[in-house]
Amino acid sequence: MHDTLPLLEPSDFPALTRASLDTLQINIGLKCNQACLHCHVNSNPYRKEKMDVDTIGLVIEFLKLHKVSTLDITGGAPEMHPQFCELVSAARKLGLHVIDRCNLTILEQPGFGNLANFLAEQQVEVVASLPCYTKDNVDQQRGDGVFESSIRGLQNLNQLGYAANQGELVLSLVYNPLGPTLAAGQQELEEVYQKELLEKFGIRFNRLLTLSNMPIKRFGSTLVSRGQFDDYMSLLKKAHSDDNLDSVMCRSLISVDWQGYLYDCDFNQMLDLPVLADNGKNMHLSELLKKDITGNNIVVRDHCYACTAGQGSSCSGALI
Ligand code: SF4
Ligand code: SF4
Repeated sequence: MHDTLPLLEPSDFPALTRASLDTLQINIGLKCNQACLHCHVNSNPYRKEKMDVDTIGLVIEFLKLHKVSTLDITGGAPEMHPQFCELVSAARKLGLHVIDRCNLTILEQPGFGNLANFLAEQQVEVVASLPCYTKDNVDQQRGDGVFESSIRGLQNLNQLGYAANQGELVLSLVYNPLGPTLAAGQQELEEVYQKELLEKFGIRFNRLLTLSNMPIKRFGSTLVSRGQFDDYMSLLKKAHSDDNLDSVMCRSLISVDWQGYLYDCDFNQMLDLPVLADNGKNMHLSELLKKDITGNNIVVRDHCYACTAGQGSSCSGALI
């Protein structure tokens, strides 16, 4: 048995280069009100790491000067950051599309009673994890009581106009398999989700995004301890499709950690595989203000097969 370190070794994954930058994804902090089994950032209520005021300022400066169309805010539970609302408002004033990767249960936490209203007022796209439409499966993966709280959160968002016909308030759900398997077809699964959630709970949403589980951090460790790591990697490699390579998210997205350092994606961030500057040191957002990284090589390792297996996987769901 081995640990997840082989993911850091050179891989036979095909080389990738950057296209033009479209999305700035920031991990604003690692604190979360949950501690899910599959969490690839090992978040929990006790994590303290969070973006400081200067780095938040740098993010806003970058958004003012650069032509990215989307600010994608993730965490932890990003809403727990004290400057979350300030950052969202600043980005929306600049006309950017803002995505909040919301775990839904945060909407019911003490002190967050106005959060759903704020997201609606600012026309923030809510991307929310709901790994199944049944209570047992969700609670097994995300913790007791998470399913019912998530359902109330979705109903609350619907009442505020999310997923209504006008289409201004977008509500996307994220599905990932419970264990080391590939996701079912996104289109088919979306139809099942729509039917089940509408019939049972009166819930509407705009789209379902299917994601593969990354064999890293907590999920990777679980695979190792259960002796399933190698089998899962083989499954991902066998299901690799070159057709997915053009649209993997790292070609048009850059991921920023809570200290302002850059990574080709959130997963590379969690594996500590940074974007390197010309001097060989980790590149910081302050340097990206002055530098165009289009055409740069992307750091790829074996975990990248989770992005290209089957119909592909990205933070915007399936690729094909
Ligand atoms: S809600 Fe998201 S960030 Fe929080 S522990 Fe679960 S997977 Fe991790
Ligand atoms: S994990 Fe996916 S998004 Fe990240 S560098 Fe690899 S292929 Fe790109």
